[in-house]
Amino acid sequence: EAKKAGRAEQRVFYDAMNAAAKDGLVIDGALRGAIEANEFHLVYQAITNAHTGKLTKVEALLRWHSSLLGPVPPDRFIPVAEDSGMIIELGTWVLEQACRQMGAWKQGTLDDVTISINVSAWQLADPGFVKLVSQALIRNDLAPHQLELELTERVLIEDAANVQAVLGQLRALGVGISLDDFGTGYSSLSYLTQFHLNTLKIDRAFVMDIEHSERSNNLVHAIIAMGHSLGLQLVAEGVETAGQAAILEKMGCHYLQGYHISRPIPPAELLRFADQRISMAPAPHGDFAI
Ligand code: C2E
Ligand code: MG
Ligand code: MG
Ligand code: MG
Repeated sequence: EAKKAGRAEQRVFYDAMNAAAKDGLVIDGALRGAIEANEFHLVYQAITNAHTGKLTKVEALLRWHSSLLGPVPPDRFIPVAEDSGMIIELGTWVLEQACRQMGAWKQGTLDDVTISINVSAWQLADPGFVKLVSQALIRNDLAPHQLELELTERVLIEDAANVQAVLGQLRALGVGISLDDFGTGYSSLSYLTQFHLNTLKIDRAFVMDIEHSERSNNLVHAIIAMGHSLGLQLVAEGVETAGQAAILEKMGCHYLQGYHISRPIPPAELLRFADQRISMAPAPHGDFAI
């Protein structure tokens, strides 16, 4: 009972702190020292082959449990970390952590899986970034093709000339480059050919309505057709139903990610997920969603 009351009290406290955190200043303060205090961890979300259901990639997603604010979602603290420049330090931590996890997985059932991490514009603009990536690969004994970096369209516009050079170096190294949240940004189609991309991730906003909105359906269909003709791999984000998965597979979308496949989960759970997928005979997706 005391424990229960304590938890309720804690929740009230967190709620109050979170309300105060709306201006970003409180988050900014709480972020300082949060790495050293071990307040961050990564969860991993499966990305599967749309046709066979096989686990192909895993996206690392950052989680923060602040001792001061309680759990704070990335959409709240990433922008603050970008404003202060702390995203560089945080992004470096994510890169190392994800590569270390992949290094451990490589020994087991996940040896042919790719790890994807989200990278912000600031990191890419940092002169030491390419070296940082190659060192993380070497340190954790990973092949470059086992790592994929997810960028948003914003990254491509901010400092186009420099970004193009950096992406060229990363692709030369053998690292995959993925354009995240595709369709929500400001990019023109010329970006798709101009930059060294190999994957497009179709934003959840479009995937959400494909079953019921002819417009969304047509739009996703067009994105997939365009991706095919440009030789890009396609990942659909936010796949929440078997119906969506079936439509996407039929449209020729290569990979699926979303709650219908799996939520973002801790490493041990992901291993169980992968084991399940391996013991299963190839079958149409959707029949064995967890
Ligand atoms: P994102 O990279 O587009 O990641 C996908 C987001 O959609 C994740 O939210 C994931 O939990 C959520 N999601 C996945 N499947 C579904 C679904 O079926 N339905 C719904 N409703 N949501 C789904 P999350 O983890 O809250 O991350 C939000 C954003 O924060 C990410 O969007 C990414 O832009 C950013 N982020 C997360 N981790 C990092 C990181 O390590 N570094 C950077 N720079 N940004 C990160
Ligand atoms: Mg992403
Ligand atoms: Mg996304
Ligand atoms: Mg996003």
